[in-house]
Amino acid sequence: MPLWNGRHGSGGLSVVERAAKYGKKCAVIEVKTIGGTCVNVGCVPKKVMWFAANTATQINNAKGFGFEVNMQGFSWQKLKTGRDNYIKSITSWYDGYLEDLGIDYIHGFGKLLDKNTVSVNGKKYSADHIVLSPGGKPNIPHIEGAEHGITSDGFFELEELPKKVAIIGVGYIGIELAGVLNALGSKVDLFSRSDVLLKGFDSMIQEVLDKDYTAHGITIHYGSQIKKITNDKTIVTNKGEFYGFDTIIWAVGRDPMTQHIGLENAGIKSNQRGFIPTNKFQMTNVNNIFALGDVTGRIPLTPVAIAAGRKLSDRLYNNMTDKHLDYNNICTVVFSHPPIGTIGLTEDEANKEFNKVEIYKSEFTPMADALLNHKTTTALKLVCAGNDEKVVGCHVIGHGADEMLQGFAVAIKMGATKKQFDDTIAIHPSSAEELVTLR
Ligand SMILES: Cc1cc2nc3c(=O)[nH]c(=O)nc-3n(C[C@H](O)[C@H](O)[C@H](O)COP(=O)(O)OP(=O)(O)OC[C@H]3O[C@@H](n4cnc5c(N)ncnc54)[C@H](O)[C@@H]3O)c2cc1C
Repeated sequence: MPLWNGRHGSGGLSVVERAAKYGKKCAVIEVKTIGGTCVNVGCVPKKVMWFAANTATQINNAKGFGFEVNMQGFSWQKLKTGRDNYIKSITSWYDGYLEDLGIDYIHGFGKLLDKNTVSVNGKKYSADHIVLSPGGKPNIPHIEGAEHGITSDGFFELEELPKKVAIIGVGYIGIELAGVLNALGSKVDLFSRSDVLLKGFDSMIQEVLDKDYTAHGITIHYGSQIKKITNDKTIVTNKGEFYGFDTIIWAVGRDPMTQHIGLENAGIKSNQRGFIPTNKFQMTNVNNIFALGDVTGRIPLTPVAIAAGRKLSDRLYNNMTDKHLDYNNICTVVFSHPPIGTIGLTEDEANKEFNKVEIYKSEFTPMADALLNHKTTTALKLVCAGNDEKVVGCHVIGHGADEMLQGFAVAIKMGATKKQFDDTIAIHPSSAEELVTLR
């Protein structure tokens, strides 16, 4: 049974690799570069930049530990070349991998002609099942002068470190790019439409991040509506005019890549913003067409797209009839400086959902910074609900939060209670130990 897998990113690849292992004939279609957003212009190059930024921070911190180290220079170009080569090594690895699995790779723009047929470069392909995972692209608002700004895609093309950069948008992408650029030496201004950073995150995270970013030289403009951008890159807002930027980055959300892909030809419904709604089995309203990943508008993260894809193949081709992704308690990290790890409900969400909510939290200077002039803050919060104090939310900002959360996520996904956290012996000295010793 042929399976056509529209679009080849994180989600797309995961469906076909598992389906192929179950003996199905599959093809993937990709218009740009294999690997999708995550590998080419998302998680992977972003994390390389985050490591570079951490290294800059460590060099600056070395003095506090007695090292006479001075920054001798930094080559953005060398970093970019190394990063681009690393990405190329990943994407070229895919070629052999797909071939080994017997998956056909079709390069071009896929367009649905009907519920079983897709055209690519004028050629028609038919399939029993079609999976749509075209992902998204950065949104650029329709305002005068918007073209003077770049997006996260353009950030990865920059040939030199910006001197003074404005980042518009304070979701996780804006926050991550701000942290990286600030640590590497750019002067960063962040523009937020609302009066918080990282809307939807726990208030403790928002407050500590604001304090830390401000203390480390990032200027945050809250309540800013961008009216226009002039030819000399002056940003005109409701709060005044801001100038002197050599780079402006739009980080105001991502739109689904559902234009011109022929949804109407197959009768697939999408919502007002173009996202494709699915049920828990990733089914669209058309019975042989599925959608997953960012295009569904639900939790746009690589492991989410991958898990949804694998489970879909398990269900369709390996008789696991109820297999589907549980979208609850998905942990996530923001690679800010310092990083943030979070899972489950915020304090506000828990208060709305449960009658009895208990909050345990702690805020301190991490030992790693004790000898430094420029300190960061670590803050942790457990949100517990019910008489048995089940842990329904865990939020951490601070050094190591990125690696800390994965293990705690297992416990929380299994339904751990505060008492079970308390019964766990701490690892000392560490920041993570606070999570099992909160009073
Ligand atoms: C800057 C940035 C940083 C990120 N960091 C993280 C992170 O740290 N951790 C994390 O989990 N997630 C991160 N993400 C999100 C992550 O990249 C996405 O959630 C993930 O890539 C979604 O996978 P997908 O398969 O839905 O879509 P994508 O990975 O976007 O893949 C879709 C593919 O389909 C192709 N395509 C689209 N339309 C067509 C068509 N008509 N024909 C053929 N091909 C088509 C596209 O070219 C693309 O390659 C980041 C994203 C960005 C932008």
